[in-house]
Amino acid sequence: MAYWVGKQLDISLKDPDPKKRDLADDLVQLMTPIVKAYLTDEGYQSIDQGLQLMGGAGFTREWGIEQLVRDSRISRIYEGTNGIQSLDLAGRKLLIKGGRLPQTYLQAMNEMLGEGGEAKYIDKAREALKTLEGVLSWIGNNALQDPEEATQAATPLLKLFALTTLSVFWVKLDRVAKEAETNSPQYSASFYQAKHKAAEHFFRYFHPQIQMHAEDIQAGKASIMSWDISEF
Ligand SMILES: Cc1cc2nc3c(=O)[nH]c(=O)nc-3n(C[C@H](O)[C@H](O)[C@H](O)COP(=O)(O)OP(=O)(O)OC[C@H]3O[C@@H](n4cnc5c(N)ncnc54)[C@H](O)[C@@H]3O)c2cc1C
Repeated sequence: MAYWVGKQLDISLKDPDPKKRDLADDLVQLMTPIVKAYLTDEGYQSIDQGLQLMGGAGFTREWGIEQLVRDSRISRIYEGTNGIQSLDLAGRKLLIKGGRLPQTYLQAMNEMLGEGGEAKYIDKAREALKTLEGVLSWIGNNALQDPEEATQAATPLLKLFALTTLSVFWVKLDRVAKEAETNSPQYSASFYQAKHKAAEHFFRYFHPQIQMHAEDIQAGKASIMSWDISEF
């Protein structure tokens, strides 16, 4: 996902076709907060699990993993806290250029899915895109006039975008690995097998989170904003 956005950045700056530059710029603008926040959140969760795996020994300085936990924790804070990245996505990126960034994104994702015909997990990626479209329409109807709704939706929306993008990429990765191992394998069989297993794990473990985030957003702000100060 990060490499793909890097490629879009190159296209947005160097492609001779101004239309392609413009569309790539849409994707860079939309995806920058998503790449920053989602990957640093997940990176932190991964290293935290690494520490947990080592139990109390992981918590001590002796093994060095607590240093990695502290070092990765800052990545969620500096270069724009991940909360602010989410607000940038929900409060600014959805609205700029007349609100066309999500449309450019959905078109790019659908084109990527359509590149190689049918593929394993393609229905799940289509389902993710449909869910995201539904959520964007809910936000359009409920959140754009209400900053509190937009704010409560921001973080799950960023995760929803990231997981939808990763769904499309895992379809592609699985498909490319299948084609390569069938037609012109350059690596060992276990290399390709690992790609298929990672794709399967993504769709079993991460993909269901899409629905959770969609429901979270559409539950609205009530349970967060209904508290009176005396109730704390
Ligand atoms: C080790 C380290 C190195 C750094 N290096 C640099 C550097 O080289 N250059 C540089 O310029 N800066 C640097 N920083 C600063 C860093 O970019 C800021 O710490 C970061 O942007 C967060 O700002 P803040 O600490 O003022 O937190 P705050 O802005 O006070 O944020 C506190 C919390 O409130 C949330 N929040 C803030 N505003 C809102 C809002 N409007 N709505 C909802 N939630 C909100 C944030 O998401 C965060 O969770 C560094 C910081 C650290 C700790």
